Amino acid sequence: MEPFRIKSVEPIPFPTAAQRRNSLAQAGFNLFRVPARQVTVDLLTDSGTAAMSAAQWSAVFSGDESYAGARSYEGFEAVVRELTGMPEVIPVHQGRAAERILFGALLRPGEISVANTHFDTTAASVTAAGAPCVDLPCCVDSTDEFGGNIDLEGLERVLRGPERVRCVVLTVTDNAGGGQPVSPANLAEVRRLCAPRGITVLLDASRFAENAYLVTRRDPEWARTSIPDVVRAMFDLADGCFASLKKDGLANTGGLIALRDTALARDCRDRLIEVEGFPTYGGLAGRDLEALTQGLREVVDPRYLEYRAESASWFAGQLEAAGFPVLRPTGCHAVYVDAAALLPHIPAAELPATALANALYLAGAVRVTDLGTLVFGGPDPEGGPDRPAPREWVRFALPRRVYTRNHLEYVAGIAAQVAAKATALSGYRILEQARTLRHFTAVLAPLGEPVPFEH
Ligand SMILES: *Cc1c(COP(=O)(O)O)cnc(C)c1O
Repeated sequence: MEPFRIKSVEPIPFPTAAQRRNSLAQAGFNLFRVPARQVTVDLLTDSGTAAMSAAQWSAVFSGDESYAGARSYEGFEAVVRELTGMPEVIPVHQGRAAERILFGALLRPGEISVANTHFDTTAASVTAAGAPCVDLPCCVDSTDEFGGNIDLEGLERVLRGPERVRCVVLTVTDNAGGGQPVSPANLAEVRRLCAPRGITVLLDASRFAENAYLVTRRDPEWARTSIPDVVRAMFDLADGCFASLKKDGLANTGGLIALRDTALARDCRDRLIEVEGFPTYGGLAGRDLEALTQGLREVVDPRYLEYRAESASWFAGQLEAAGFPVLRPTGCHAVYVDAAALLPHIPAAELPATALANALYLAGAVRVTDLGTLVFGGPDPEGGPDRPAPREWVRFALPRRVYTRNHLEYVAGIAAQVAAKATALSGYRILEQARTLRHFTAVLAPLGEPVPFEH
C-alpha cells in the first residue's frame, strides 16, 4: 500500500463523452495540446508531476531567496554531494538546461557521444554541440533484467573505430528503452573501457533512485545493500552526472549537473550565468532548492521505492487482464504497452501508438503518451510515407505519490473498453509538424470514423 496518507487533495475533472470528442478535435488530435482540465487521470508523464510531502512544503517556506550565496544552495549542495560524492554541484531549472550547458562545455564538433540511449532532449543538446549521437542499447524490446545496459561489444567496436568518442552516457533508468535499469557491472565495464582512453563517463541520473532499487531486486549481489549505498556505488563509477530533478527529485521543477572535474565545472558555471542565473540558484528559486533538498532525502526511502515498483507491476497486471500487450519486466516510472501488437491492422505510417493513446482519451479522459512513429519516426524528405519508428509503444507514466490504486483501476477499466473495440480503431495522418520534437505540437487528422464509447 501507499507508505503515506493524504493531507491535501485536489479535485479531478470528469469531462463527458461529447466534451472529450470536442477537446481532442480542438487539440488537432494531439494529446499534448489537450487542456489538463479536460483530463480525468493524467499519465502523460512522471516529469514534474509529483505530490510533495508535508516536510517539503514546510521546507518551501524557509527558502532563502538571496541572489548570491543563499543558504538554500548550501543544503542542496550538501545532499547532492552526499548522494553522488561529486564535489562540484550546479543547480539548473530542469534537465535539458543541464544538458545544453554540460554538452556545450564538453563536446567539440567532430567528436561523438555514445549512450545506452540518449533521451530525446539529450540528443538535441549533443547534436547542437556539433557531435553525432550513437545509441547502443543492449537489447531492444527487452525482457532482460537489466534491459537498460549498454551493448559492451558495440561500444568496444566504436572505441576501436576511427571516430573520436568524447563521452559515454548511461541513462539510468533507460526511459526511451522501457524504463529498464543499468547494472553496476555494466557501468563498471564502461568505466574500465573509457578511463584509459580519457573518455568521460556520465550518468543521466534523472531516475537514479529507481535504478538503485531495481538493482537491489534484480542482482542478488546487491540485495542486501542499502539504497544510498547502491546509489553511491553507481556515482563512484562515473566522472559526472546530469539530471532532471522533476523525476527523482520528488519536486515540480529543477535539475542539476554534478562533476569531479573543477575546470569543466568552471566552464559550465560560466555558461550557466549567461542563460540560467547565478551559480547558487541556477534558474530556481530558493524555495525550489529547499523542496529538492528534502525530496532527494525522501526518494531513497526503500519503502517508498518498493511501493513505486510494486504499483507499476500490479498496474501492468491490470492492463494485461484488460487485454493489453504489456512489456515485462516493468520498471518503476511507467508501464509500456505494445500498440502494434494490439492494432496490427494500423500500419506504422498511420500512427498506431497515437491511435491507441487517443482512443484511451476518448473512452475515459485518460491521457498517456505515444512513443511510436510520431515521436521516433520522421517525415520522408521526398514527401512519401513517414519513416517508421522501430517500435510502437504507448507509455502509461506514473506520477509520484499522486494516484491511488482506485485511479489506476479506473484506467484499467477504460483500457478494457478500448481493447474490446481495438479492431474498429483507425489511424491518423499528420497535417502540420515542427522540424524537431514534432510530437509536442503536431496537428493530426483521423483517417476513419471515431469509435463510440459509452459514458
Ligand atoms: C526528463 C528527462 C530529461 C530532460 O529533463 P527535463 O527536466 O524534462 O528538461 C533528460 N533525461 C531523462 C532520462 C529524462 O527522463
